[in-house]
Amino acid sequence: MVHEAVPKIELHCHLIGTLNAELLRRLETTGEQLLADPERLRPVGFEEGPQGFADWLVRVEHYKSADWRRYLPVLDQHMATLCRQGVVYAEMMISPTMFSRDLAEMVDQFAEFRERATACERGQVQVEFLFLIPRSLPDDLIDKDIARCVALAETGGICGISIAGLERDRPVTRFMRMFDALKDCGLGIEIHAGELGGPDEVAEALDVGRADRIGHGIAAFQDDRLIERLREENVHIEFCPTSNLKMGAVRDMACHPVGRARDLAMNFSINTDDPGAFDCDMASEFALVEQAFGFSKRDFAAIARNSMASRFAKKLRYPDSTYGCAAPDRPEVARVLTEC
Ligand SMILES: [Zn+2]
Repeated sequence: MVHEAVPKIELHCHLIGTLNAELLRRLETTGEQLLADPERLRPVGFEEGPQGFADWLVRVEHYKSADWRRYLPVLDQHMATLCRQGVVYAEMMISPTMFSRDLAEMVDQFAEFRERATACERGQVQVEFLFLIPRSLPDDLIDKDIARCVALAETGGICGISIAGLERDRPVTRFMRMFDALKDCGLGIEIHAGELGGPDEVAEALDVGRADRIGHGIAAFQDDRLIERLREENVHIEFCPTSNLKMGAVRDMACHPVGRARDLAMNFSINTDDPGAFDCDMASEFALVEQAFGFSKRDFAAIARNSMASRFAKKLRYPDSTYGCAAPDRPEVARVLTEC
């Protein structure tokens, strides 16, 4: 398949969502104490929808409250998978609750987390982090999270935030002061919108959230004026095909807006969202769009360029290759991009 020769960039993946039975069994062989039972960790099925995903989260609930040290071996395993699939750059969402509530302690812990993550990159895949802020975050915790994000923006620990959670009845207006503060310190803003909600939520994410990137954005394609706005403002859309199918955001791949986005030369990426929960990986997602819409090498090269241009982290750690971060041992990848 043509996508195999093109480097992949992932901008929408939740670290907790990478957990699956195989990854846990690999951890077990290294002597790691598991917080979920691999035998019970079956992925979300196609007909299960949001309730199926909620049930999956219950199966990993002990990881929801686990601290950053627990996630290091998970991250290491997942990053090895990314390397195998030709992913050269990834931004991952993690929860601020993995770290101490004390600001100074959190900065120190994050520095250690970052150092270990950089070692896991193996010089092949650059991984950066976004703090995930749930839409349901109580008002009194918003200011605390602003302080945490600003502190880590100053040290280069995180490159942005993501607002996630079911959109209905949870307007992002509550986070306005957070958006202003984080924009001022150079952090990128991603908002999950238009996954299960309507086009209004995508417009709200742009108007109120000043979002640089929209997670999913499926509903935007019900509204031609909104599509035009996304094109004019060059807003990046993070598509997650299998997640969209399993959550019921689209009926089947033929209905997925990624084909139309390609036809309109829009700015978008292809992502897994929660590869463990949805039983997918970057290769499977690229294969899905290739099969459904006949994406060419040139289409995938455009996706790679747009995804890199829409990344939140400015600095590249492996800048020697033609592409800016393609691994030095993958010359075919750099060649494909210069040819397309
Ligand atoms: Zn997501």
